[in-house]
Amino acid sequence: MASAEDELNLLVIVVDVNPIWWGQQGQREPEFTLCKCLDAVMVMGNSHMAMTRTNRLAVIASHCQDSHFLYPSKSWESGDSGGDEISSSRDGKYELLAVANNLIAEEIRSIMTKTEVTGNSTDTLLAGSLAKALCYINRVSKELEVGQEMKSRILVIKAADDCALQYMNFMNVIFAAQKQNILIDACVLDSDSGLLQQACDITGGLYLKIPQKVALAQYLLEQWVFLPDSEQRSQLVLPPPAHVDYRAACFCHRNLIEIGYVCSVCLSIFCNFSPICTTCETAFKIQLPQMVKPKKKKLKQAA
Ligand SMILES: [Zn+2]
Ligand SMILES: [Zn+2]
Repeated sequence: MASAEDELNLLVIVVDVNPIWWGQQGQREPEFTLCKCLDAVMVMGNSHMAMTRTNRLAVIASHCQDSHFLYPSKSWESGDSGGDEISSSRDGKYELLAVANNLIAEEIRSIMTKTEVTGNSTDTLLAGSLAKALCYINRVSKELEVGQEMKSRILVIKAADDCALQYMNFMNVIFAAQKQNILIDACVLDSDSGLLQQACDITGGLYLKIPQKVALAQYLLEQWVFLPDSEQRSQLVLPPPAHVDYRAACFCHRNLIEIGYVCSVCLSIFCNFSPICTTCETAFKIQLPQMVKPKKKKLKQAA
């Protein structure tokens, strides 16, 4: 039992707060707003922290141009060591939850009021937020006490559509997570995300497109889908694995393609053949049938 107490369990929730998507969503379904979504995130975060004293939480808001930490936030870290006191005292658990919820609400309010949609980019910067999550996990793992171990996972709550422009960055983040044994779970609110399907499949996480957005909190909690960690999951009956869209985006146009050309040196993907790889500038030697024929004749003559 002592080992379970020493093991840190870090959950990083990445929430897509794309203001354009949420604005349209408010018109489609007024009963499910960003506010409701964040309530569900808080409920899940609280349950995670309340389960064990060594469970840790981080929440990142993924916006159009950047990503922000909702919890733990700068205002929390700049305060005195009050945070440590609360988290280490056993009866102070509820206080910590209240502090976390207030911080999340405050931060999201300040982000949404500061938002200026310039029109240049309307895509959620999800790859950047995931990279931030990985950096945070890495930082926490560096601060571990001797003999302490850490398990970590990332849950993405995805709203807006995929952005093929982020394909490269996204795949790099996924493989980095796989190498560090970090699970990526995805809870998709709207249209399916090929990028997240691959992320979950590669890292061994769960991908779920929820049929009813209003029931988000239930999917995060009551069905015991995303809350249990990887070990507990092996004992549960979980939703069947999703069909994974493994199409890759070509490096030339960022279109999703099923069949294409791959550079044998740097593994860049192209939808059209080009004699020189635009990524690594390798020139390909092409064996044309006309050049092969005379060689064969010569060989026969020689023999
Ligand atoms: Zn292309
Ligand atoms: Zn190449």
